[in-house]
Amino acid sequence: MLFPDMSDHFRFATQVIHAGTSPHKGTGARVTPIFHTNGFVFNDLEHGADLFVLKGKGFTYSRGSNPTTAAFEARMAALEGGTSAIAIASGQSALLVILLTLCESGDEYVASRQLFGGSLGLLKRMDKRLGIKVIWADPTPESIAAAITPKTKAVLIETIVNPTGQVVDLTGISRVTKAVNVPLVVDNTLATPALLRPFEHGADILFHSASKFLCGSGTAIGGVIIDGGSFNWVKDTRYPLISEPWEDYDDILLTQSFPDKAFSMAARLIGLRELGPGLSPTNAFLILMGIETLPLRMQRHCDNAQKIAAYLRTHPAVDHVSLPDSTDEHVKKLCPKGSGSIFVATLKGGLPAATRLLSRLKLFSHLVNIGESRSLICHPATTTHKQMSEAERHGFGIDPGTLRFSIGLENPEDLIKDLEQGLK
Ligand SMILES: *Cc1c(COP(=O)(O)O)cnc(C)c1O
Repeated sequence: MLFPDMSDHFRFATQVIHAGTSPHKGTGARVTPIFHTNGFVFNDLEHGADLFVLKGKGFTYSRGSNPTTAAFEARMAALEGGTSAIAIASGQSALLVILLTLCESGDEYVASRQLFGGSLGLLKRMDKRLGIKVIWADPTPESIAAAITPKTKAVLIETIVNPTGQVVDLTGISRVTKAVNVPLVVDNTLATPALLRPFEHGADILFHSASKFLCGSGTAIGGVIIDGGSFNWVKDTRYPLISEPWEDYDDILLTQSFPDKAFSMAARLIGLRELGPGLSPTNAFLILMGIETLPLRMQRHCDNAQKIAAYLRTHPAVDHVSLPDSTDEHVKKLCPKGSGSIFVATLKGGLPAATRLLSRLKLFSHLVNIGESRSLICHPATTTHKQMSEAERHGFGIDPGTLRFSIGLENPEDLIKDLEQGLK
């Protein structure tokens, strides 16, 4: 095997460097090479035919799988404690493929109102264009329990909410979804497995935008879907792509051939082989490099964010800061290492004050990515959350004077000095 999975017996800081990769057999290359090839040569006719109906191991065509992206997949499955993973072009396409694997037109699912702006836009568009109906709820066990009906096919939440940094009650919510046998789909982008491993708290399917902390340097767009292997698809006939035979694949039954990863196999077939948004090997390489330093970076991101949030909280020009305090009991229980470095701060002077601060900052970059080594700032009401109504934005804590911060890895005193001159 090209990339034996050596992750099982090692701890997190070792896995981020080693899981899913080993020296390359042919050349001895120690770092996973970037395999820029579309096709992979078959040994003979039978070998090709077998691979096409998912018999045996090997690569056929890079739209479905590629050795560099496979290394990234194996590493992410190990880090999250899942059974398998699918590398995909972006966080946005990860969410799309999860929903299309679980739902068809006429189906409905429950989603948190507090999601990344791009996710909210996608869900609304799929509802309108494809008739895959979204029922909105607050990300609390009570609100989600009230929204679930016998027709609910999934529940979707973010573990740490973009842009407020709020940590949801994952344990409470998973208790609700388990009681009614509905898969819990979780966006773990803001936490990363370095801060929170949602499968340990009852999630069934995870996804990430790898464009953020996983990559860490703002150099690649990517995403990943991870299968927890925990949901019992056999018991449930409502998911035909997962629990019914695929006629055009020699009637393969995924729950039988791949019992611990039937969901991710279905997602790979419809998502990558059919729809086609695979991750480029170069982007997989850049993200793999980023992951090697993930735990070190996340600790520094969290420490820096707490310092900047504490400074902003006491500044007379600032109305409020959304980042939960590191001493908060709920946060300490779910994310003992910290709750990340993304938060919003609302200025007392409204839009003019926000405009002034953006124009004066020198060290913070004014752009819409998050999770980079650099500190970043943006104005959600006119960018990431532009598609919402003003009332929806306000409910989310986003007003005209609100700015989103992504605190980087710089010296925190330099960042505070920049804010000090900007807020003067
Ligand atoms: C950025 C982001 C996404 C979308 O990811 P892309 O890689 O930009 O497509 C999804 N969820 C969250 C929480 C994000 O921050």
